[in-house]
Amino acid sequence: MNFEEIKALDEQYVLQTYGRNPVAIDHGKGATLWDSEGKEYIDFTSGIGVCSLGYANETWARAIYDQAMKVGHISNLFYTEPYVKLAEKLVKGSGMAGVFFGNSGAEANEGMIKLARKYSFDKYGKGRAVIITLNNSFHGRTITTLKATGQDHFHEFFFPFTEGFRYADANNIDSVKAQGGDDVCGVMMELIQGEGGVNPLDSAFVQAVAQLCAQRDWLLLIDEVQTGIGRTGSLFAYQQFGIQPDVVTFAKGIAGGLPFGGFLANEKCRDVLGKGTHGSTFGGNPMAAAGANVVMDAMTPEFLREVAEKGAYLREKIAAFNSPYVSGIRGMGLMIGVGIQGMTHTEMKDRLMAEGLLCLTAGKDTLRLLPPLVITKNEIDRGLAVMAKVMQ
Ligand SMILES: *Cc1c(COP(=O)(O)O)cnc(C)c1O
Repeated sequence: MNFEEIKALDEQYVLQTYGRNPVAIDHGKGATLWDSEGKEYIDFTSGIGVCSLGYANETWARAIYDQAMKVGHISNLFYTEPYVKLAEKLVKGSGMAGVFFGNSGAEANEGMIKLARKYSFDKYGKGRAVIITLNNSFHGRTITTLKATGQDHFHEFFFPFTEGFRYADANNIDSVKAQGGDDVCGVMMELIQGEGGVNPLDSAFVQAVAQLCAQRDWLLLIDEVQTGIGRTGSLFAYQQFGIQPDVVTFAKGIAGGLPFGGFLANEKCRDVLGKGTHGSTFGGNPMAAAGANVVMDAMTPEFLREVAEKGAYLREKIAAFNSPYVSGIRGMGLMIGVGIQGMTHTEMKDRLMAEGLLCLTAGKDTLRLLPPLVITKNEIDRGLAVMAKVMQ
């Protein structure tokens, strides 16, 4: 099918909830993609931070195929090998005590919120269910995670929302303290606000929040749906912030393109969600777990160092453009935000796409780059050449 045929079917049969780019992606290899008309693109999106091993990774595809030919799904009423292997890798790599598997970021955050409220209920009884989140955060699209998201425009239309969220300013510990009280059970935050504009939090602030949580027995709830699984140059971003969360969520990059997510709990929290209190039909699905095992096996110290180096290289080269359109560069590893001025971030993204580079936007004025973690030096340089042409 050509682009117009695909678009016509979308418009006729699909709910029009997305503002899509006028491109139909057909296939890819590594960090290079081709559309339905045969046009080639360098990919700085990974499908919003998902395809960490790039496109058509042979080892990943083979593992999923092999698992599909053994047993593709059987539910959590039975044990299977792929998810237990994955659990061991995640627990050992994170320093946490146990993991729960679901399918998406929002679902992972919902589970983390449930865990925090039950931890507090078990220990203190009712009336201690509030979770403090940060302004400009993003935690998902369900009724509860929309309310957890600290941006007013997500709190429209779908009333009534779940109660029990209060919002504090990022990098302002007094603001967090001001939202505190006897009704609080946890603080939930992203360490780099992704959708909000690729804004890394200050380490000192993050550590102060961790300290406050420890003092008041609030759970430290870290949303690593976007930052986790190697994206920032360590398995989890918190490992670079000098903290250890009580619960941490992951999703996007974990299975290299299959829908998968979950949360890790520390020793203190590992028994809070006992039998029958939480579940997911697809959680821990053998095919998705087989794909995730390949992703986790790739996360060697050397691989993670390369992610950090590639990110530093990209940021350095973009800064060297001295572009009048660039107001600033932020981020860690291969999660990069480029502040855009002189045109909208959408216009910049569109111009780059026309020249063969796919990027994302975030916040009000940020071009967001989330390339596949396996992107080669050659692919980075080809992407940078497009950026130089458009930005200079
Ligand atoms: C993408 C994202 C989510 C939501 O994940 P879904 O898989 O779309 O539900 C939640 N938190 C953060 C930080 C995200 O980046």
